[in-house]
Amino acid sequence: MNYTVHDNWDRQHLWHPYTSTLDPLPTYVAESADGAVIKLADGTQLIDGMSSWWCVIHGYNNPRLNAAAKAQIDKMSHVMFGGLTHRPAIELGKMLLEAAPPSMNNIFYADSGSVAVEVAMKMAVQAAISASGDHKKSNFATIRSGYHGDTWNAMSVCDPVTGMHGAFGPALPVRYFVPQPASRFDGPWNEEDILPVEELFKEKSHEIAAFILEPIVQGAGGMWFYNPEYLRRLRQLCDKYGVLLIFDEIATGFWRTGKRFAWEWAGVEPDIMCIGKGLTAGYLTSSAVLTTKKVADTISHGEAGVLMHGPTFMANPLACAIAVESLKMLNEQDMASITAHIEEKLKTNLEPARSLPNVADVRVLGTIGVIEVDRPVDVGEFQKRCVTRGVWIRPFGKNVYIMPSYIFSDEQIDKLTTEMIELVKELPQYGH
Ligand SMILES: *Cc1c(COP(=O)(O)O)cnc(C)c1O
Repeated sequence: MNYTVHDNWDRQHLWHPYTSTLDPLPTYVAESADGAVIKLADGTQLIDGMSSWWCVIHGYNNPRLNAAAKAQIDKMSHVMFGGLTHRPAIELGKMLLEAAPPSMNNIFYADSGSVAVEVAMKMAVQAAISASGDHKKSNFATIRSGYHGDTWNAMSVCDPVTGMHGAFGPALPVRYFVPQPASRFDGPWNEEDILPVEELFKEKSHEIAAFILEPIVQGAGGMWFYNPEYLRRLRQLCDKYGVLLIFDEIATGFWRTGKRFAWEWAGVEPDIMCIGKGLTAGYLTSSAVLTTKKVADTISHGEAGVLMHGPTFMANPLACAIAVESLKMLNEQDMASITAHIEEKLKTNLEPARSLPNVADVRVLGTIGVIEVDRPVDVGEFQKRCVTRGVWIRPFGKNVYIMPSYIFSDEQIDKLTTEMIELVKELPQYGH
């Protein structure tokens, strides 16, 4: 069957992310993808600035990852993790603990980022209730403008304005929100940023099991990079008031910010950490929750005596085998230099956008480049123009951002950033 670049059946029957059935945004039929390039059904080639929502870290159709997947398929694609274990899960676990904060000791494999957040929150509640003997110590605090996924509890700690609180109203549990840290990543630290946390903990720490946030980079909630000092001060306050600290590294992990994980920018360790997205280099859905021996043992001493979670596809061998190969590839390369080079290029190339009249801010960290414009972008029209220009960028709100995979050549980065700036220049032409 031949497809054109838009498909009418798809338009009538398939739900795409956050999409109306009455007036869906156009979708383009992708035929194949290789390296930095996505190929559409009509032959159009797009340089992919999104890494398919942060996860395709080694580019598409990577021969080593393909080989790892094929080798594992011939042994077993899946086997239940209840009562059975397997080499890919063990090998991956060892590699993750070597890469993770030193205090991490126990790993729970889950099936997606959102589910990892659910599991992390369940861990925190079970540990907090077990340690305090108080069932009231089961709520959460977070900073505004965060994003933690689309399942129930994950939604509840997403930003209450840009997130989904409006659509779900009282169905969502009510969490404690403090302002997002205003001190920029590369700017001076302002002590006032941390004060709301201490005020909240003074009053409510007996109700709060954990504080959850994305370390350093807030992704889908606003593409904001904040000062590492915030995490150091937050760690101190969590210790002082007996609140667990959860780092959601689902977007920031595996070198996206220029460090293996973003906690390294601050040098403070969480009690619980979620990873996903880049874990399988974009090949399959998989995630993991890591925690300390202390948290794990506290849960096991609690009422239930076990961690109450166990998804069907937990530790899927195929996903684990691909993740192992991906981690090997990261370990074999000088990722600090590779990401520093991409960062340098993004900084140089995007800097001219700062002087455009409709640009509010330009920021770059690691392999993430953001042009914040002065009002929300018309995504449908923007993407139409992307396809004409041979690049793939999907803005949200006022943020036009890119996060190339680590295999981009200098020419591919130049093409991507040049077209990105042209696309931003064109925004005023369509009612912007
Ligand atoms: C994408 C993301 C999630 C959710 O992951 P899914 O795999 O889409 O469920 C959670 N937290 C952060 C920080 C993310 O960027």
